[in-house]
Amino acid sequence: MYTVTFDLDGTLLRSPFWRLHLRPWLARVAQAQSATVQDLWDPLDQAADALWRTGDWVGAFDWGTLIEKTLGMALPSLDDPDPQAVRRLVMPYVAQTLPQLLRLPVRYAVVTNGLYAYQVPYLRALGWLGWLSPVITPDLAGTAKPDPRVFSSLGSVLCHVGDRPDHDTVAARRAGVVAVQCGPRPTGHDRVDRLANGHVQPDWEIEDFRELPQLIQRLLAQRTRGYSRDDALRR
Ligand SMILES: [Mg+2]
Repeated sequence: MYTVTFDLDGTLLRSPFWRLHLRPWLARVAQAQSATVQDLWDPLDQAADALWRTGDWVGAFDWGTLIEKTLGMALPSLDDPDPQAVRRLVMPYVAQTLPQLLRLPVRYAVVTNGLYAYQVPYLRALGWLGWLSPVITPDLAGTAKPDPRVFSSLGSVLCHVGDRPDHDTVAARRAGVVAVQCGPRPTGHDRVDRLANGHVQPDWEIEDFRELPQLIQRLLAQRTRGYSRDDALRR
């Protein structure tokens, strides 16, 4: 059976770790120090970027360690997030399309650049860990998108659905996986692999999740007819 992989932030959910945990904590610390969130965020972002540039693609997303080393503070651990708050961050049409997706003969998994401890609690709060497995994170894979090795434990991947060309599309194309751009491309380019083709294009572009069941069926049909990846890309 084929696996369809999803990016998490900006594809399934609107960055729950940032919105519900990291940013609120930074805001509390900033208030206590008569500073701004930006004052605290900038050195963290720079430290993460410095690690990224040295090739430490796991450390660049390890916000707990970055906060400890940069701010000399401990980020509180993430306990059970409020399911209602998480539900409000589900991307448009994901929940509505879910019944259709679950009827298709494929497995679903997550390939995210957020660490396991920062992503899985939100998927658990939504009750999504039953249909989304495994959740591949940098600390488990030992690397991050756009390194194609993030897909290496997943067997046959039908397509990868994501929002960031510089992470999702590049990783998928490098792995020989069909790249699906979902929704508008975010502005800004942080954590870019300078060796990546800056003009890389996704194989398919969809506006939102409503188009996904049909696309998956189409890709499945092409695969079962024995088409190669390149054939699958011809519309
Ligand atoms: Mg994303």
